[in-house]
Amino acid sequence: MAETLFSKIINREIPADIVYEDDLSLAFKDIHPQAPVHLLIIPKKRIATINDIAEDDRELVGHLFWVAGKLARDMGFDDEGYRAVMNCNEQAGQSVFHIHLHLLAGKPLGWPPYTDHPKQA
Ligand code: AMP
Repeated sequence: MAETLFSKIINREIPADIVYEDDLSLAFKDIHPQAPVHLLIIPKKRIATINDIAEDDRELVGHLFWVAGKLARDMGFDDEGYRAVMNCNEQAGQSVFHIHLHLLAGKPLGWPPYTDHPKQA
């Protein structure tokens, strides 16, 4: 499986503003933030899309949500609220094929989110 730029961030081959790391995961600031807080939480294991999550990966994917909650508590936006979301493939706008949880906070977040999709007329 070809490397993505997130593998390069994990391997410190390209820079990123890393806010959290453990044996299984890494969290860093999105380079094009869509909210005052916009972090990406990724597994160190490369899984291309949600479709590729294997039975053995269930705990790992749950871990990403645990990290989201921990960061929300540690950064103080847990009560105010936030969104943790993962895009899958073209229609959802996935552009990096290494699964990542977007953690967005710091402003009211519109719902449904697809009203802002660039491909919508
Ligand atoms: P998605 O469109 O769901 O695949 O999200 C990919 C995200 O990765 C986008 O929000 C990009 O802004 C972000 N991104 C791309 N390159 C970098 C980078 N070098 N460092 C941090 N975030 C990045």
